[in-house]
Amino acid sequence: MSEPRGWRSLPMGGVAYRLSTDVKTGDWRALKPVVDHGKCTKCMICWLFCPDMAIVWDGEKIQVNLDYCKGCGICAHECPVKAISMVPEFEEV
Ligand code: SF4
Ligand code: SF4
Repeated sequence: MSEPRGWRSLPMGGVAYRLSTDVKTGDWRALKPVVDHGKCTKCMICWLFCPDMAIVWDGEKIQVNLDYCKGCGICAHECPVKAISMVPEFEEV
């Protein structure tokens, strides 16, 4: 009879020795979000959906922390008024 499968059958895991915030995950971005503050209603839905916590409220308007934004475009997709455009990383805006 085979031994029942359980947590002992899983391969050994690893431990991250540095904080994830030490890694600037924005380094591999191909597209960057650009906010049209004239259209933005400050609803913060983009902040809610960003998987990298890269949307930041500065007290007056939303900003994108490009150190950690991976350019996934979820914020642009979810914005109800289409105030966010995804543009090529090296394009001047
Ligand atoms: S989801 Fe759109 S309208 Fe809402 S805060 Fe973000 S950019 Fe502004
Ligand atoms: S593009 Fe993706 S990672 Fe960057 S701010 Fe929008 S939701 Fe966040």
